[in-house]
Amino acid sequence: MAQTRERPKPVLHPDFCKGCGRCIESCPKHCIEAGTEIDGATGLIPVQLRLDSCNGCSLCLEACPEPYGLDHESPEPRSSEPPHIPGTENLVAIAAKRRVAETIPDVRVPMPALRPLVVKGTYASAIGALLAGCRHFFGYPITPSTDGAELMAKLLPELEGHFVQAVSEVATINHMYGTGGAGLRCMTFTSSPGFSLMLEGLSYMIGAEIPGVVVDVMRAGPGLGNIGPEQGDIKIACRGPGHGTTQTLVYAPATPQEMLDLTMLAFDKAFEYRNPVLVACDGYLGQITGRVDLPSYMVKPGLPDWAVWGDAAHRPNLHTSILLNEADQEAHNVKLLAKYAQMIDREQRADLYETDDADVLIVAANTPARTAKGAVAVLRKQGIKAGLFRPITLWPFPIRALAPVLPRMKAVVVVEASNGQLEDELRLALSHADLHAPPPITNVRHYGGIMPQMNEIVACARAAHEATPSRRTRETEAEAAARVLS
Ligand code: SF4
Ligand code: SF4
Repeated sequence: MAQTRERPKPVLHPDFCKGCGRCIESCPKHCIEAGTEIDGATGLIPVQLRLDSCNGCSLCLEACPEPYGLDHESPEPRSSEPPHIPGTENLVAIAAKRRVAETIPDVRVPMPALRPLVVKGTYASAIGALLAGCRHFFGYPITPSTDGAELMAKLLPELEGHFVQAVSEVATINHMYGTGGAGLRCMTFTSSPGFSLMLEGLSYMIGAEIPGVVVDVMRAGPGLGNIGPEQGDIKIACRGPGHGTTQTLVYAPATPQEMLDLTMLAFDKAFEYRNPVLVACDGYLGQITGRVDLPSYMVKPGLPDWAVWGDAAHRPNLHTSILLNEADQEAHNVKLLAKYAQMIDREQRADLYETDDADVLIVAANTPARTAKGAVAVLRKQGIKAGLFRPITLWPFPIRALAPVLPRMKAVVVVEASNGQLEDELRLALSHADLHAPPPITNVRHYGGIMPQMNEIVACARAAHEATPSRRTRETEAEAAARVLS
């Protein structure tokens, strides 16, 4: 007759029990009770076991997030256990109990065909976040980004999500640090002064390699400025969002459709690189409505193996941006720089319009790119072959798409709602690519809430076209472009 072997029952190691009560909830036999005595070693109150009804199902061990809070009663005599070395109890326990976490992959769930929406940019971005599987939003109201947060506040409770209006932007970004560290998709909407306040936390997230998505609806500055549209955050977004060796992907949508698409993409990239991602639009784009086609799928997020999650398998995970040893800190910077180099190599995105035969190139992003597109049509009707180069990634600047176009151009006109911050990105990208003799660069700039107007762009492009008599066909430029592309 086959013998049934009794399953081992749990034993409690009070010094490793933090009294969280998860084991109490997990036990179907009600064998575990809240404790009443403070443990002298930890100052915490461990649970108490009453195992008369215990069937050894192990559910309590699975529920316990501590590596050594609960254990199976040992079938071996205690003499077989590792020798006790005072001061090493925790390490020995963790090593003995470590279970390896495995990544649960994201799943793309097919969506039925739905009618297009007509929504404003902030709403499109919020919908994109929800379709990307974001169920955690943190934010502090600031015009002109608040509409997006309001929509998240309405929809997230319907989707068993969480909306938290934080006490400040500083609190917001640190909530994101914690939630992203748990491997969950989270985001915020903010606007320029609020974005400035988040920079310290962004640096912490980048340092600790925590994903998250920040949608910055840029408004006029400096200081509180006003609530008119601007692109005055390009500098801090691209030149280092926070102190130290910091860099993030920066997407620059130009339509409500791209607000949705690029917000969805931002979540994927944030987790691919374990880094925050910025979606930077101007206040005008946040408010204008447009047709938005919904994607054919939505994302059911998995759980990365690096997440700080409440079970024993993830217990060894730790996220920090503190590295007190200088050599360790330098090595970490080198690792981050290698990651940024990968982003530069893989993530450049641009939209080229009518550039094949153009000899005047307009460079613009966000809403100014829409106006510039209209200017291209007007200029072509006037007999001037104009084209538009629109960076979709402000960082990394898409120099690889620009380099082969430049040698054919007589002039470049940079159009922006800032004091030359986009032009600075262009010039820096040219310099890094060793393209030291670009065509003459001129510009149309407004700030303070005023957007570049089409007639100004047309006039500037005409003047630039007339000032430069011949096409640039110098061999050196073509050679330089080939080098960038190789
Ligand atoms: S092993 Fe099962 S029955 Fe026993 S205490 Fe744990 S959860 Fe309860
Ligand atoms: S789950 Fe673990 S840490 Fe929490 S009360 Fe139970 S034994 Fe203690």
